[in-house]
Amino acid sequence: MKKKISIITNTQAVSEKTASSVENAFEAGGYEVVRGFAEDAELIILIGGDGVLLRLIHEHGFPKSNVVGINTGHLGFFQEVAPEEADDFVEAYQNGNYQIQTMNGVEIEVRKGNKVHVETGLNEMVVRGRPGCLIHMDMSIGDSMIETFVGDGILVATPAGSTAYNYSLGGSIVDPRLTLLEVTPIAPMNTTAYRCFTSSIVLPAELPISLVPDKTNSADVQLEFDGFIKHYKDVDCMRVKLSDKELKLVRLNTRDFWTKVKDKYL
Ligand code: NAP
Ligand code: MN
Repeated sequence: MKKKISIITNTQAVSEKTASSVENAFEAGGYEVVRGFAEDAELIILIGGDGVLLRLIHEHGFPKSNVVGINTGHLGFFQEVAPEEADDFVEAYQNGNYQIQTMNGVEIEVRKGNKVHVETGLNEMVVRGRPGCLIHMDMSIGDSMIETFVGDGILVATPAGSTAYNYSLGGSIVDPRLTLLEVTPIAPMNTTAYRCFTSSIVLPAELPISLVPDKTNSADVQLEFDGFIKHYKDVDCMRVKLSDKELKLVRLNTRDFWTKVKDKYL
């Protein structure tokens, strides 16, 4: 049986052009190429920006296949290959000249009575209140109650997501070789009425974060994971932790993480 490659593109003309050329190159190398998601593909090639990867995860879950991105988007932080490097990538892949970088997601359990809902993000999980309102919630780390957070919300980033919304909020960029979660406050109140951390805090992956919204004014919460939004009413508590789900990203040996950060941010 032929090895299978799946190609997923956004709708830009340049993405379609790149897809055809990659498809031809893999077919010439004896692979079966399918357009769209295929669970049994050895490799999924995403052509577009970072959003194409985030959409894949939210439509199909974290795939078991290796994943590589060809960047035709704006930033393309996850996207390893430039369109003009596509042919070199096909050759490097077929010769095994690549590494796999695994990235865990971040998971939240939302409890309402005896019901538990679980959501997973790759970049981050944001917990906010009703639109336009402050959220009041008790935050514990492990078994220790740390603060009553009052502000717009709390963002919990993975190392993979540390360069996205987390960074815009003043959070730190995390080297992806570290396994941790970064908790970044969004517009925290810090007055004599309310006291909360105003900077990010960085936690070991095994320490769960509990968030208990104040039932009198903040039981309705809005979750945002990788830009996808869900609303929950009458929430009793939430627990955020590193997910067991992981993404296997193909990395070429040409550029290291910090060179990429410099190229994209400075
Ligand atoms: P989008 O509106 O296109 O995303 C905003 C920007 O974030 C895009 O330039 C995107 O890259 C980039 N991005 C996504 N993941 C990244 C990562 N891990 N590291 C560095 N940059 C990253 O929507 P989207 O492409 O679906 O991305 C969703 C993400 O947007 C969310 O997970 C959140 O992190 C981020 N976001 C940021 C803000 C903010 O900074 N104020 C607010 C809301 C959401 P491409 O150009 O390649 O798509
Ligand atoms: Mn995007």
